[in-house]
Amino acid sequence: MTHAARRLDDPLDALPGLSPARRDLLGKLGLATVADLLGHFPREYQDLSDRRRIGELTADTLQTVEAEVIDITSRNLNDGRVVISVVVNDGGEASLEGVWFNQAGMARRFRFGQRVAFSGKPKWYRDHWQMTNPRVRELDGSASDPGDGASVVPLYPLTEDLRLEQLRPVMRRALELYANAVPEPLPLRLRQEHNWPAAAKAMWDVHFPANVAAAALGRRRFIYEELLVLQLALGLRRREMRDRQLAPKLPTTKQVDAHIRRLFPFELTDDQNAAIADLRRDLASDRPMQRLVQADVGAGKTAVAVYALLVAVANKHQAALMAPTEVLARQHHRTLERYLAYSRVRRRLLTGSLSPRERQDTLAALKAGEVDLVIGTQSLVQDGVAFARLGVVVIDEQHKFGVHQRAKFRQLGVDPHYLVMTATPIPRTMALTVFGDLDVSTIRQLPPGRQPVRTRWLDEAKRADVYGLMRDGLAQGRQAYVVCPLVEESDTLAAPAATRRYEELSAGPFRDFRVGLLHGRMDEAEKADVMERFRTRDLDLLVCTTVVEVGVDVPTATQMVIENAERFGLSQLHQLRGRVSRGPVAGVCYLFANPPTDDGQERLRAFVRTSDGFDLAEVDAKLRGTGELFGTRQHGESELRLASLPRDADVLSLARRDAFALLQEDPRLAAPDLAGLRRLVAQRYGRTLDLAEVG
Ligand code: ADP
Ligand code: MG
Repeated sequence: MTHAARRLDDPLDALPGLSPARRDLLGKLGLATVADLLGHFPREYQDLSDRRRIGELTADTLQTVEAEVIDITSRNLNDGRVVISVVVNDGGEASLEGVWFNQAGMARRFRFGQRVAFSGKPKWYRDHWQMTNPRVRELDGSASDPGDGASVVPLYPLTEDLRLEQLRPVMRRALELYANAVPEPLPLRLRQEHNWPAAAKAMWDVHFPANVAAAALGRRRFIYEELLVLQLALGLRRREMRDRQLAPKLPTTKQVDAHIRRLFPFELTDDQNAAIADLRRDLASDRPMQRLVQADVGAGKTAVAVYALLVAVANKHQAALMAPTEVLARQHHRTLERYLAYSRVRRRLLTGSLSPRERQDTLAALKAGEVDLVIGTQSLVQDGVAFARLGVVVIDEQHKFGVHQRAKFRQLGVDPHYLVMTATPIPRTMALTVFGDLDVSTIRQLPPGRQPVRTRWLDEAKRADVYGLMRDGLAQGRQAYVVCPLVEESDTLAAPAATRRYEELSAGPFRDFRVGLLHGRMDEAEKADVMERFRTRDLDLLVCTTVVEVGVDVPTATQMVIENAERFGLSQLHQLRGRVSRGPVAGVCYLFANPPTDDGQERLRAFVRTSDGFDLAEVDAKLRGTGELFGTRQHGESELRLASLPRDADVLSLARRDAFALLQEDPRLAAPDLAGLRRLVAQRYGRTLDLAEVG
């Protein structure tokens, strides 16, 4: 086979000498082609360049020793664990003992007199040095020795059966044969500007680095490449929305403005007014608005959304409001019913629980232009939904969807204006990635008189006291939530945690009160019914799962208990506690939690400390990276494979700047040296972001 014939999408079988068994192990890691294998980047690197004699070791830093095995023992501890101990010596007085717990197989890897290298962080124990779980390299050429004597060892995500020593030779073979086939999408001018190594060299550096710096640079280059492609896609989308598509001009006259404001039972805050000024400017233009409103929980996004919807209606266009759940759609519908009680705006609710006839009827009315305002769930973007003159679309709680999940409202000729709203403040880096093609308005200020929620993390021993305080509140006519995490139960017949808690509370501490139950396994009509009863104060206490997570607005609910708070994400917790700070009475949120890790502890402490959602969003991003914030882990469709934010925030701003400069100069990426980038943009985002120019 010649070099030219090698293609990265060759199956792994194209690698000479790869046994079917090992190929199957790689398959378990999701690696089917050579490209997959080379794209399987190390998690981290171990720097073994600090080589020492045993006599020169210092405690607690990673060092490597080469020595000879002088003792191998295995013994059982009282607690049933097995300890393997291997002592080595390098001719000096001191010895080094490697210790492994419960890895009986370790003993078989060693022979007396064998030369080995141990790498680890030593501790002085009685009269000798000890390393727990040192990394071992066999120096006298046994079969499992990768034999490269590397001083920087990459650590890969591996399966149980595939050891590093088995992956390394395969990786080396793949690089030898295919490194030159790794595509180079970056134009020379960008590589020179940033001193990026060429793709082939960078690929070697990622997997077989000469030193830690080379590994880091190679990796950064690919992260940059990935982020550059994303930023180009977002930039192209922005441009296409602006330049190609036409939306109806929806100006706001003084009268219309005054008319809409009169509907609200409150004065808008300065931040709300600023967001409205932004969207009025957008709507008055014939380019479709692409605006994101991010606000802290309870800061009043709904009023801003209503404003946008009504500007469309005032201009004789239709408006649609899409919410992520039926409970929320119904709530928005009710809010609008209240605001529009005396108006002639024709409105409808379109959700999955309409009967087929109601649905048919609503669809016909939308199409005939006999509905001005429709409020609904995802049903609004299903096949068969068509509008006569759609002017404005508002999508609530868009943060649930990633770049690939942008909802599509279709009609011929003109495009509607889009306003998307996130439930919680988003970290800065996310604003530049998932929402990087949108203009952003921020509402940070809470309405006047709003008291921040007090948050307490309590010991289980305080539970009875908390129930007592809650009963006092309920007796005064307030309401409360008890939120339970979803539990994954293999037995589908088992009651969810919320159901058990409901039974316990309604029969015990809260037997004198009206207790309701709300969880995701109930059908939509049942859920809506329970919510309605809670809202009308037909229920005092609601035991629920995260069904109430976003948006639910019951101002008289002022107390909340969150069970197993460690199982929720920070933004989810913030959303939850936002449910008890909707009115003038200060809400209180009690957490019960046992976080198993330090990170988990830190997260909850930050949550108790900070009531500002914007600060919390940054803490959250730092602690766990954006992977989950993208909401793509569940969807199994990762938008960013290598980059992790905010860790790579500096690379992100480089990539963003470069992407914008490239598009400025060459809006279609037509230059020959941009062909590779253009191809990647089309492959990764062309369809989902609907990019005509590169498609
Ligand atoms: P979110 O931004 O979390 O969606 P909502 O729009 O549901 O918040 O508003 C939260 C509560 O604050 C609602 O009960 C709403 O009526 C009230 N509210 C919104 N704006 C104001 C304001 N400017 N002054 C007083 N109350 C307001
Ligand atoms: Mg809301």
